[in-house]
Amino acid sequence: MWVLRGLRNGVLTTGWPGRPDVYANATRGPATVKPGPAAAALPAAEAARLCPVDAISADQDGGIRVDQGKCILCGRCVAARPDVFAWSADPHRATLTRPELVVPAAESPDALREVSDRLRVRTRALRRSVHLRHVDAGSDGSEEWEIMALLNPVYDIHRLGLFFTASPRHADILLVTGAGARGMAGPLRETYDAMPDPKVVIAVGTDAVGGGIVSPSYAVSGGVGDIVPVDVWLPGSPPSPFAILSALLTAVGRIPASAGPLTSAAAGDAR
Ligand code: SF4
Repeated sequence: MWVLRGLRNGVLTTGWPGRPDVYANATRGPATVKPGPAAAALPAAEAARLCPVDAISADQDGGIRVDQGKCILCGRCVAARPDVFAWSADPHRATLTRPELVVPAAESPDALREVSDRLRVRTRALRRSVHLRHVDAGSDGSEEWEIMALLNPVYDIHRLGLFFTASPRHADILLVTGAGARGMAGPLRETYDAMPDPKVVIAVGTDAVGGGIVSPSYAVSGGVGDIVPVDVWLPGSPPSPFAILSALLTAVGRIPASAGPLTSAAAGDAR
Protein backbone atom coordinates (compact mmCIF):
# COMPACT_ATOMS: atom_id res chain seq x y z
CA MET A 1 0.00 0.00 0.00
CA TRP A 2 2.68 2.50 1.08
CA VAL A 3 4.99 1.36 -1.70
CA LEU A 4 2.26 1.92 -4.28
CA ARG A 5 1.44 5.29 -2.79
CA GLY A 6 5.09 6.29 -2.91
CA LEU A 7 5.38 5.23 -6.54
CA ARG A 8 2.20 7.10 -7.42
CA ASN A 9 3.33 10.33 -5.72
CA GLY A 10 6.81 10.28 -7.21
CA VAL A 11 9.67 12.37 -5.80
CA LEU A 12 8.33 15.21 -3.67
CA THR A 13 11.70 16.53 -2.49
CA THR A 14 12.35 20.06 -3.63
CA GLY A 15 15.37 20.79 -5.79
CA TRP A 16 15.53 24.33 -4.44
CA PRO A 17 17.68 26.42 -4.59
CA GLY A 18 19.30 24.65 -7.53
CA ARG A 19 15.91 24.43 -9.24
CA PRO A 20 12.94 26.79 -8.87
CA ASP A 21 10.15 25.85 -6.46
CA VAL A 22 6.77 27.56 -6.67
CA TYR A 23 6.41 27.44 -2.90
CA ALA A 24 9.71 29.20 -2.16
CA ASN A 25 8.21 32.65 -2.61
CA ALA A 26 4.78 31.71 -1.27
CA THR A 27 5.47 32.34 2.39
CA ARG A 28 4.90 35.71 4.01
CA GLY A 29 8.06 37.51 5.07
CA PRO A 30 8.52 40.71 7.13
CA ALA A 31 6.82 43.91 6.02
CA THR A 32 8.58 46.12 3.51
CA VAL A 33 8.04 49.59 2.04
CA LYS A 34 6.65 49.84 -1.47
CA PRO A 35 8.55 52.43 -3.50
CA GLY A 36 6.32 55.10 -4.96
CA PRO A 37 4.45 58.34 -4.37
CA ALA A 38 2.19 56.93 -1.62
CA ALA A 39 5.20 56.14 0.61
CA ALA A 40 6.70 59.56 -0.09
CA ALA A 41 3.43 61.30 0.84
CA LEU A 42 2.82 59.46 4.13
CA PRO A 43 4.40 61.24 7.13
CA ALA A 44 6.81 58.88 8.86
CA ALA A 45 5.41 59.70 12.30
CA GLU A 46 1.94 58.62 11.16
CA ALA A 47 3.35 55.41 9.71
CA ALA A 48 5.29 54.69 12.90
CA ARG A 49 2.09 54.84 14.96
CA LEU A 50 0.79 51.79 13.08
CA CYS A 51 3.50 49.50 14.44
CA PRO A 52 3.24 48.00 17.94
CA VAL A 53 6.95 47.11 18.10
CA ASP A 54 8.59 50.29 16.74
CA ALA A 55 9.74 48.57 13.58
CA ILE A 56 8.64 51.56 11.47
CA SER A 57 10.62 54.78 11.73
CA ALA A 58 11.88 57.74 9.72
CA ASP A 59 15.23 57.86 7.95
CA GLN A 60 17.38 60.99 8.00
CA ASP A 61 15.46 62.45 5.05
CA GLY A 62 12.08 61.82 6.65
CA GLY A 63 11.35 58.74 4.50
CA ILE A 64 9.75 55.61 5.92
CA ARG A 65 11.93 52.67 6.96
CA VAL A 66 11.01 49.23 8.27
CA ASP A 67 13.37 47.33 10.53
CA GLN A 68 12.61 43.78 9.44
CA GLY A 69 14.60 42.51 12.41
CA LYS A 70 11.84 43.86 14.66
CA CYS A 71 8.81 43.07 12.49
CA ILE A 72 6.56 40.46 14.09
CA LEU A 73 4.34 40.20 11.00
CA CYS A 74 1.28 41.45 12.85
CA GLY A 75 -0.06 42.90 9.60
CA ARG A 76 -1.29 46.22 10.96
CA CYS A 77 0.72 48.38 8.57
CA VAL A 78 -0.16 46.28 5.51
CA ALA A 79 -3.86 46.28 6.41
CA ALA A 80 -3.97 50.03 7.10
CA ARG A 81 -1.84 51.21 4.17
CA PRO A 82 -1.55 48.53 1.46
CA ASP A 83 -0.43 51.29 -0.91
CA VAL A 84 2.69 51.89 1.24
CA PHE A 85 3.49 48.55 2.90
CA ALA A 86 3.64 44.99 1.57
CA TRP A 87 4.89 41.58 2.64
CA SER A 88 8.30 40.57 1.41
CA ALA A 89 8.21 37.26 -0.44
CA ASP A 90 11.83 36.55 -1.35
CA PRO A 91 13.21 33.72 0.83
CA HIS A 92 16.76 35.11 0.44
CA ARG A 93 16.30 37.57 3.25
CA ALA A 94 19.12 36.63 5.64
CA THR A 95 21.77 39.33 6.01
CA LEU A 96 25.32 39.47 7.33
CA THR A 97 24.87 42.66 9.32
CA ARG A 98 22.06 43.80 11.58
CA PRO A 99 21.64 47.24 9.89
CA GLU A 100 21.00 45.53 6.55
CA LEU A 101 17.63 44.38 7.88
CA VAL A 102 16.40 47.96 7.74
CA VAL A 103 14.64 48.56 4.42
CA PRO A 104 14.99 50.45 2.13
CA ALA A 105 18.70 49.58 2.43
CA ALA A 106 21.04 52.08 4.05
CA GLU A 107 24.42 50.30 4.16
CA SER A 108 26.93 50.79 1.36
CA PRO A 109 27.59 47.83 -0.98
CA ASP A 110 31.33 48.08 -0.22
CA ALA A 111 30.84 47.59 3.52
CA LEU A 112 28.59 44.60 2.87
CA ARG A 113 31.03 43.05 0.42
CA GLU A 114 33.81 43.27 2.99
CA VAL A 115 31.75 41.42 5.64
CA SER A 116 30.69 38.84 3.07
CA ASP A 117 34.28 38.22 1.92
CA ARG A 118 35.49 37.80 5.49
CA LEU A 119 32.80 35.20 6.23
CA ARG A 120 33.47 33.32 2.99
CA VAL A 121 37.17 33.03 3.82
CA ARG A 122 36.37 31.84 7.34
CA THR A 123 33.95 29.15 6.20
CA ARG A 124 35.73 27.94 3.08
CA ALA A 125 36.39 24.51 4.59
CA LEU A 126 32.73 23.93 5.47
CA ARG A 127 31.17 23.98 2.06
CA ARG A 128 30.08 20.39 1.43
CA SER A 129 29.68 18.83 4.90
CA VAL A 130 28.20 21.08 7.52
CA HIS A 131 26.93 20.13 10.98
CA LEU A 132 24.33 22.18 12.79
CA ARG A 133 23.60 22.58 16.48
CA HIS A 134 20.34 24.20 17.45
CA VAL A 135 19.79 26.02 20.75
CA ASP A 136 16.41 27.36 21.86
CA ALA A 137 17.14 30.50 23.87
CA GLY A 138 13.57 31.33 24.85
CA SER A 139 11.56 30.65 21.70
CA ASP A 140 7.78 30.42 21.40
CA GLY A 141 8.30 27.17 19.47
CA SER A 142 7.34 28.48 16.03
CA GLU A 143 10.91 28.57 14.69
CA GLU A 144 11.46 25.04 15.95
CA TRP A 145 8.62 23.75 13.77
CA GLU A 146 10.20 25.33 10.73
CA ILE A 147 13.68 24.05 11.57
CA MET A 148 12.40 20.52 12.09
CA ALA A 149 10.63 20.71 8.71
CA LEU A 150 14.07 20.88 7.10
CA LEU A 151 14.45 17.19 7.89
CA ASN A 152 11.24 16.04 6.24
CA PRO A 153 11.22 14.52 2.73
CA VAL A 154 10.15 17.80 1.09
CA TYR A 155 13.19 19.84 2.17
CA ASP A 156 15.59 16.98 3.02
CA ILE A 157 18.63 19.12 3.87
CA HIS A 158 20.89 16.08 3.87
CA ARG A 159 20.86 16.34 0.05
CA LEU A 160 22.83 19.59 0.51
CA GLY A 161 25.36 18.14 2.96
CA LEU A 162 23.70 19.73 6.00
CA PHE A 163 23.27 17.58 9.13
CA PHE A 164 22.10 18.19 12.68
CA THR A 165 24.37 17.09 15.50
CA ALA A 166 23.68 16.69 19.19
CA SER A 167 27.16 17.79 20.24
CA PRO A 168 28.50 21.32 19.96
CA ARG A 169 31.97 19.81 19.60
CA HIS A 170 30.93 18.42 16.20
CA ALA A 171 29.03 21.53 15.11
CA ASP A 172 30.03 24.10 12.51
CA ILE A 173 26.92 26.26 12.64
CA LEU A 174 24.95 27.33 15.70
CA LEU A 175 21.28 27.98 14.97
CA VAL A 176 19.83 30.08 17.76
CA THR A 177 16.11 30.71 18.19
CA GLY A 178 14.28 32.68 20.86
CA ALA A 179 14.58 36.12 22.36
CA GLY A 180 17.74 35.39 24.35
CA ALA A 181 16.23 34.44 27.71
CA ARG A 182 18.57 35.42 30.52
CA GLY A 183 18.31 31.89 31.92
CA MET A 184 19.68 30.52 28.66
CA ALA A 185 22.58 32.98 28.36
CA GLY A 186 25.00 30.67 30.19
CA PRO A 187 24.13 27.44 28.31
CA LEU A 188 24.14 29.31 24.99
CA ARG A 189 27.56 30.79 25.66
CA GLU A 190 28.90 27.38 26.77
CA THR A 191 27.60 25.79 23.57
CA TYR A 192 29.28 28.49 21.50
CA ASP A 193 32.56 28.13 23.40
CA ALA A 194 32.53 24.34 22.92
CA MET A 195 32.29 24.57 19.12
CA PRO A 196 35.50 24.30 17.10
CA ASP A 197 36.62 27.13 14.80
CA PRO A 198 35.52 28.25 12.31
CA LYS A 199 32.09 28.55 13.82
CA VAL A 200 29.14 30.46 12.49
CA VAL A 201 26.13 31.74 14.42
CA ILE A 202 22.74 32.28 12.78
CA ALA A 203 20.03 34.18 14.65
CA VAL A 204 16.84 32.51 13.41
CA GLY A 205 13.68 34.58 13.58
CA THR A 206 12.66 38.04 14.75
CA ASP A 207 12.88 37.12 18.43
CA ALA A 208 16.48 35.96 18.07
CA VAL A 209 17.40 38.96 15.93
CA GLY A 210 15.93 41.72 18.06
CA GLY A 211 14.38 40.26 21.21
CA GLY A 212 10.84 40.32 19.80
CA ILE A 213 7.79 41.74 21.48
CA VAL A 214 8.91 40.72 24.98
CA SER A 215 12.12 42.75 24.83
CA PRO A 216 13.36 44.65 26.71
CA SER A 217 12.35 43.03 29.96
CA TYR A 218 13.86 41.51 33.07
CA ALA A 219 13.65 38.07 31.44
CA VAL A 220 15.25 38.53 28.04
CA SER A 221 18.10 40.31 26.35
CA GLY A 222 17.70 42.38 23.20
CA GLY A 223 18.19 39.30 21.03
CA VAL A 224 20.83 36.60 20.96
CA GLY A 225 23.43 39.01 19.58
CA ASP A 226 23.79 40.29 23.15
CA ILE A 227 25.01 36.83 24.19
CA VAL A 228 26.99 35.38 21.26
CA PRO A 229 28.49 37.00 18.13
CA VAL A 230 25.98 36.62 15.28
CA ASP A 231 27.20 36.16 11.70
CA VAL A 232 23.89 35.77 9.87
CA TRP A 233 20.64 37.56 10.76
CA LEU A 234 17.41 35.95 9.60
CA PRO A 235 14.18 37.86 10.30
CA GLY A 236 10.68 36.38 10.20
CA SER A 237 8.15 35.35 12.74
CA PRO A 238 8.82 32.55 12.01
CA PRO A 239 11.02 32.37 8.90
CA SER A 240 9.98 29.67 6.42
CA PRO A 241 12.09 26.53 5.90
CA PHE A 242 13.15 28.00 2.54
CA ALA A 243 14.38 31.16 4.29
CA ILE A 244 16.27 29.09 6.90
CA LEU A 245 17.81 27.01 4.14
CA SER A 246 18.87 30.18 2.35
CA ALA A 247 20.44 31.51 5.57
CA LEU A 248 22.39 28.26 6.03
CA LEU A 249 23.73 28.35 2.48
CA THR A 250 24.55 32.04 2.85
CA ALA A 251 26.51 31.25 6.02
CA VAL A 252 28.79 28.85 4.19
CA GLY A 253 29.16 30.99 1.07
CA ARG A 254 27.06 28.81 -1.22
CA ILE A 255 24.63 31.67 -1.81
CA PRO A 256 25.89 35.22 -2.24
CA ALA A 257 24.88 37.35 0.73
CA SER A 258 22.03 39.79 0.13
CA ALA A 259 21.92 38.73 -3.48
CA GLY A 260 18.17 38.75 -3.83
CA PRO A 261 16.78 36.12 -6.19
CA LEU A 262 19.43 33.63 -7.22
CA THR A 263 21.30 33.96 -10.45
CA SER A 264 21.56 30.69 -12.35
CA ALA A 265 25.32 30.51 -11.57
CA ALA A 266 24.72 30.93 -7.86
CA ALA A 267 21.92 28.40 -7.94
CA GLY A 268 24.26 25.85 -9.46
CA ASP A 269 26.84 26.46 -6.75
CA ALA A 270 24.22 25.97 -4.04
CA ARG A 271 23.39 22.40 -5.06
S1 SF4 B 1 3.68 44.00 10.10
FE1 SF4 B 1 3.28 44.74 12.20
S2 SF4 B 1 5.26 44.54 13.25
FE2 SF4 B 1 5.68 44.43 11.06
S3 SF4 B 1 6.21 46.54 10.49
FE3 SF4 B 1 4.00 46.25 10.09
S4 SF4 B 1 2.99 46.97 11.94
FE4 SF4 B 1 5.17 46.64 12.49
